[in-house]
Formats: sequence, C-alpha cells, structure tokens
Amino acid sequence: MCVGDLQAEQNGPFSHVLFVEVGMVSVVNHIGKGSIEVGTIGNEGMAGLSVFLDDGIATSKTFVQVPGSGLRIPSADFVRIVEERPALRHLLNRYTHAFITSIAQGAACNLSHQLDERCAKWLLLTHDRVEGADTFPLTHEFLSNMLGVRRSGVTVAAGALQDAGYIRYSRGNITVVDRKGLEGAACVCYRFIRSHFDRLAG
Ligand SMILES: [Zn+2]
Repeated sequence: MCVGDLQAEQNGPFSHVLFVEVGMVSVVNHIGKGSIEVGTIGNEGMAGLSVFLDDGIATSKTFVQVPGSGLRIPSADFVRIVEERPALRHLLNRYTHAFITSIAQGAACNLSHQLDERCAKWLLLTHDRVEGADTFPLTHEFLSNMLGVRRSGVTVAAGALQDAGYIRYSRGNITVVDRKGLEGAACVCYRFIRSHFDRLAG
C-alpha cells in the first residue's frame, strides 16, 4: 500500500476489498471544489464496505493515506467468502455499525467543535490506526483536506499542539510525543468513537 493508492473513486465501483494490516485508508467526500474526510480505516476494519452491503459502488473516494500493507480480495470472491462464513458476517456487521457511528459523530463534530480539538481527535484516531508507530507521514495540505479547512488554519492548530509538547512536526512527518496530553486536547468525540470501536470491533 503506497500513499495515494486508489481503492475506489466516489461513485465508482470497488473491484476489490482491502483488509489493512499496517497503515491507513481515508474515506473522503467531494464538496464543490473541496473535499472532507468522513472516515478512516486501519487494521480494525476493511475498505469496501459497500461490497459487503450488497452494492459495490463507493459513495466516497477511498485511498491509502498512510503507507503500509494489506490483503486485497476481488469483490466477487469476497462476497462468496462471506456467504460461506457466518462468523465473518457477524464480525463485519459489528464493524459496519462502528464505522457508521464514527461517521455520524464526525458530522456532529465538524459542526460543533473547535479546529484544534478536531485536529487532536484526528491525530489520535490516526495514531490508533497505525498502532505501534508514533511517527507517520502527513503534510499540512493533507491534514487541511482531511479536516476540510484552510491550510493556514491547520498550521495554527497543529502549531498550538506542538507548542504544548503533544506532537512534533518535521519534514512532512508527525510524531506523537505526549499521547495523554493529546487526549486531553481532543474533543469528547475521540473517546466516544474509540469506545464504540473497542466495544464492537475490538
Ligand atoms: Zn468533536
């Protein structure tokens, strides 16, 4: 999995599903000329839920954001495998519920919470998804697209988190220095989303 690897365009088909082993996939919706991230996928889940839900069309652009590795399965094979394994369907039902919960909370968060809180939440969710790695590649431009704000706003928010000693930003890489501090800086949405993922897909 390399940065930018496309799993599906918005309104395009999923030719395959992807189970992430290491790294992270972003799920992004285009709004006018901009775009905003509506979800992320790490080793807790899979890209291509619409295939599991008997459709196969991506309603969001889905691509690799943090490089790593994963298992690709052609969509037709995946459908057959799920039909033969009720336990797998059960697990994916629960993951789907957790994913929908995170999208719903994210929509409420975008309207309700400050940029620096959302930035901290996003970094924590990403840190969870790339478990074991405290440093991951991330440009301000990428982060601004993910948060749906201007790049200058992200620079201020990330700068405040860096000044507080929670993260370090250098040459396109973010390092989480003080995880507890970052948790204190994030809005309540991080804890909400994390608790439901732990409950449903942990
Ligand atoms: Zn929030």
